[in-house]
Amino acid sequence: MSDIANKLIRQSLKSLKPYESARRLYAMASADEVDTAWLNANENPFLPDIAVYPELFNRYPDFQPEPLINGYANYANVTTDQVLATRGADEGIELLIRTFCEVGESILICPPTYGMYAISAETCGVNVVAVPTDKDFQLDVDAIKQQLDKVKIVFICSPNNPTGQVVNRADLVDIIEAAQDKAIVVADEAYIEFCPQATVANLLNDYDNLVVLRTLSKAFGLAGLRCGFTLAPEATINALKKVIAPYPISAPVAQIASQSLGLTGLSWMQEKVEILNQLKSEFINATQKWSFIERTYPSDTNFVLMKLSSAISAEQVINRFIENNMLLRNQSKQLGLTNTVRISIGDHDQMNKAIKIFNQINQELGQ
Ligand code: PMP
Repeated sequence: MSDIANKLIRQSLKSLKPYESARRLYAMASADEVDTAWLNANENPFLPDIAVYPELFNRYPDFQPEPLINGYANYANVTTDQVLATRGADEGIELLIRTFCEVGESILICPPTYGMYAISAETCGVNVVAVPTDKDFQLDVDAIKQQLDKVKIVFICSPNNPTGQVVNRADLVDIIEAAQDKAIVVADEAYIEFCPQATVANLLNDYDNLVVLRTLSKAFGLAGLRCGFTLAPEATINALKKVIAPYPISAPVAQIASQSLGLTGLSWMQEKVEILNQLKSEFINATQKWSFIERTYPSDTNFVLMKLSSAISAEQVINRFIENNMLLRNQSKQLGLTNTVRISIGDHDQMNKAIKIFNQINQELGQ
C-alpha cells in the first residue's frame, strides 16, 4: 500500500524533527501522576483555585474576550489595543513568523535558547540565522547587528530558557534601535514574573518594532490552559489578527484566565513567585556542596541549569531521578550546553527530595 502522507508531505518537512516537549518525552498517562514530580517543564507546582461556568458553552466565544484582554492590559500596564490573546506564547511565536516572513526569508535566534522559534520557522519554510550567545549567555550585539538587513524577526528570550538569565537591558535596547525600519525584535518574557523589573513591555510606546511575548503557563500556574499574550503596538497586533484563527481562545480558557488576572489571582501568583524564588535560592545554595556540579548558573526564572563535571553524565543523573519518580530535563543537546541538566523548581517536598538525591549521588561519587 502506498503511503500517501509520505508522498504528499512538504519536502522541507520530511527531515524535520518535531519539538521534544517535556510532555512528548514523558506523557502523564505513562507515569503515576500522583507520585511523579514533574520538574522538567518549568511549570508551577501549585494549582490556582478556579471555577468554570458552562452556561455559554453552546456559543462560539468572542474573538478576543473583553474581560481577558482588559485583565491582561491592566496587569501588564499596556493599552487593550496592544494585547492579543493566543493559545500559549507558542502560538504567538508561530503567528509572528507566519505574519511577517515569506517562505525563504529568515528569523534570527541566539542559541542556546527556546527551541520553538527554530521549529516554527522551519515548519513555515523560513530560514534560521543563529548568532550564539557568549559564555555568560549574553547577546553578541555586534554580530546580531550585522545580520539585521537579512532577517525579518529577531527572537530574544529574556530571561532565557534553558539558561535562566535576563539579557542585559542596554543590549536589548541597542538591538531594538538598530533594527528600527528593518526587523521586528521579539522579547520572549515567558518567565518575567520571576524578575518583573526586567520587563521591556514599558518600551512598547517608544519602539514600533518591539513585541513582547507572555504566558499564563509559568508563574500563573496554568500551563494546561494554553493561554498566552502577544503585546505589541496596535499596528502589529492588527497584522497578527489577519492570520490568527477565528476563535482562538475557547470559552472555558477565557473564563479561567480572566479569573487568574483578577485581584485574588494576581496576589496568588505573586505569593507563589515569592515561594518559588525562595526555594530556588535554597536549591542553588545546596548545589555548592556537590563537587560533581561544575557550575550552577544564576537564575531569574523558576528553573536552574547545572553543568556537570566529567564524574557523571547528564543521562545518568536524569535516570537516577527517574528511578525516584522525578523528571528533570537533559539540555545537553543544546549548543554549548554539553552535560547539563535543568531542574524546574517544585514545591517544598519535591525540592527536599531532589536535594536528597543529589546528596546521595555526591556521596556515591566519593566526593
Ligand atoms: N517561551 C519560552 C521561553 C518558554 O519556555 C515557553 C514554554 N516552555 C514558551 C515560550 C511557550 O509557552 P506557552 O505554554 O505559553 O505556549
